[in-house]
Amino acid sequence: MVRLQVAVDTPQHAGLGGTLDYLSEQPLSAGTLVRVPLGRRDLLGIVWSGDAGECAEAALKPLAAVLAELPPLDAAWRELVAFASGYYQRSIGELALSVLPPELHKLDGAQIALRLRKLHKALDEAPEAPPEHPPAPSAEQAEVLARLEAAPASTPVLLHGVTGSGKTEVYLHAAARALEAGRQALVLVPEINLTPQLEARFAARFAGRRIVSLHSGLTPAQRLRSWLAAHLGLADLVLGTRLAVFTPMPRLGLIVVDEEHDPSYKQQEGARYSARDLAVYRARLQGARVLLGSATPSLESWQRANEGRYLRLALPSRIGGAQLPRVRLVDMNQQPKGQGAGTALSPPLVDAIRQRVARGEQSLVFLNRRGYAPVLHCADCGWKSGCPHCSAWRVFHKLDRTLRCHHCGFTERVPRACPDCGNLDIAPIGRGTERLEEQLAQLLAGADGRPPRIARIDADSTRLKGSLEAQLGAVHAGDVDVLVGTQMVTKGHDFRRISLVAAVNPDSALFSSDFRAPERLFALLMQAGGRAGRSAEQAQGAEMWVQTWHPQHALYAALRQHDFAAFAEGQLKERESAGLPPFAHLAMLRADAKQVEAAQAFLDAAAALAAGLPGAQAVSVYAPVPLAVARVAGVERMQMLVESPSRPALQRFLAAWVPALHELRRGGGHKVLRWAIDVDPLSI
Ligand code: ADP
Ligand code: ZN
Ligand code: ZN
Repeated sequence: MVRLQVAVDTPQHAGLGGTLDYLSEQPLSAGTLVRVPLGRRDLLGIVWSGDAGECAEAALKPLAAVLAELPPLDAAWRELVAFASGYYQRSIGELALSVLPPELHKLDGAQIALRLRKLHKALDEAPEAPPEHPPAPSAEQAEVLARLEAAPASTPVLLHGVTGSGKTEVYLHAAARALEAGRQALVLVPEINLTPQLEARFAARFAGRRIVSLHSGLTPAQRLRSWLAAHLGLADLVLGTRLAVFTPMPRLGLIVVDEEHDPSYKQQEGARYSARDLAVYRARLQGARVLLGSATPSLESWQRANEGRYLRLALPSRIGGAQLPRVRLVDMNQQPKGQGAGTALSPPLVDAIRQRVARGEQSLVFLNRRGYAPVLHCADCGWKSGCPHCSAWRVFHKLDRTLRCHHCGFTERVPRACPDCGNLDIAPIGRGTERLEEQLAQLLAGADGRPPRIARIDADSTRLKGSLEAQLGAVHAGDVDVLVGTQMVTKGHDFRRISLVAAVNPDSALFSSDFRAPERLFALLMQAGGRAGRSAEQAQGAEMWVQTWHPQHALYAALRQHDFAAFAEGQLKERESAGLPPFAHLAMLRADAKQVEAAQAFLDAAAALAAGLPGAQAVSVYAPVPLAVARVAGVERMQMLVESPSRPALQRFLAAWVPALHELRRGGGHKVLRWAIDVDPLSI
């Protein structure tokens, strides 16, 4: 008998490394998938070290089965998982097993063999449509491609290109190169909604090649199929969201991270990893090229390029001489006040939209808040539509007459009268997309004798399967005059008829306590502006309108010039003097409990533990504070920030602290529901 260390996902062993020992009749290579008994269950596991010697220990259980139908997960994959496990402070077992397709956990060897036969059959039957001819690269693209070619494969590349500058075309070229060299390419996008569009472009270019997608919108069976095709080296191209960064790809030669600044690349639950950062690490492991693309790179990547650690390549202009939209700031201090609906949309903006409608052009108006109004209010007694379970207001949804909590989901019919004093005159305060849609319909009515055609795209209007596609289809077909939406509509979409984009109320991010809020706002506005003037006909008069109470703000000055570099340098100076990322490194310890005192006590105890650890001098542990929305669904949430100017010092500290925290929790006496560590947290 041979003793093997097997990675298994066992919450009760969290913090203990995440592998358990089992007996096997013969030695197995590391990476082999197995099934193991644990308690009364039978779990999927991965042989982690396969080289352990003979063993006579009777106490150990034998493996339940070896899934020999599948090739072992290779060394590069295991090293990626081991790195992520150490860096993000989760056990190997939890991380390794959570990034495998869920379906794999349920199948035995015979079922896997059946899936493999089906996969081969499907791949054999795949049609060959002839590949599309790539367009001749523009001068800027040619320059970027030449420099890409010349750069050592080990240097990460940051492709900074304005919206519509032809970045995707560069990805396609780089992918073609990788495929010609017999290697696989992995292309990551931030949103599921963007995968079909990108898949269509890659499929047209690489007809005859095997392309699979991987994201959480697939059925479990589809996801397993894509994963198997990648793992067996049968798929040439994998397109996916953040979870795809862990796809085993034995011939990996290229990783593209599109919109690399996008917060969606950070997993916010369980193992809180950054797919963008792991992509960079993985590329180095597998000798692959990594290409990070964005119109508004993250300040982390921008600073690495400043330091020469990344190669920065630029596409400063739009394809075909199209211009970026002219940015117009509307100073809301100068607008007439107290006209009810008129104050949400300034008269000059309404005029501009009206003109577009008359000319048959489309406008996009965005507001990052869904529902009709964020709160209902009784002017007589001061009642507000609070959520009984959360420290948040419930949002008024007029269409279905509900008050809904966007944090816990608690929903009730709108009361006819104030629940506290019976006043019949309760009124909405503020506005969301529903109200904006209603106001636009009123303001634009009669522009040319017909009612304006307005579409709204947000999480509410797209809940039904297929409704997003249907609404986008209507926009593309020209059946819509004005598109109202949340930031959902600002990303990626290649609208061809939009000549005006308006941000109705973006100011709040300027004064947020989150130091990344301005960076996110700038990216959002640039991205939104990028939806205007994408076709040559619309490009001339394309405009981006921003309604603001702070028109002199440096962020808006940079936006007017489309000057990301100026914005980034300004932000980086502030970050450096304040000792914030990318000049410092952060981790956030979060504790949830029924009572604030319990969460506070756990974090206080954690801080006391920290003080006694080796390397504690190199980190600062800040006082615990409640989250911005402190209570959700009856749970109190607190967090504590840990900071260090040195990433290795922070990592050394966490490596000692996190096991101590597991002990602290296991020791009892602390009434926390859960706790978690978030390394490189995105929202503070
Ligand atoms: P980005 O990804 O930077 O937003 P895309 O790669 O989507 O830009 O390019 C914008 C548009 O320009 C697309 O419709 C694309 O097909 C077209 N395009 C890109 N490169 C070229 C080129 N070299 N010649 C002609 N059209 C191009
Ligand atoms: Zn009242
Ligand atoms: Zn709630």
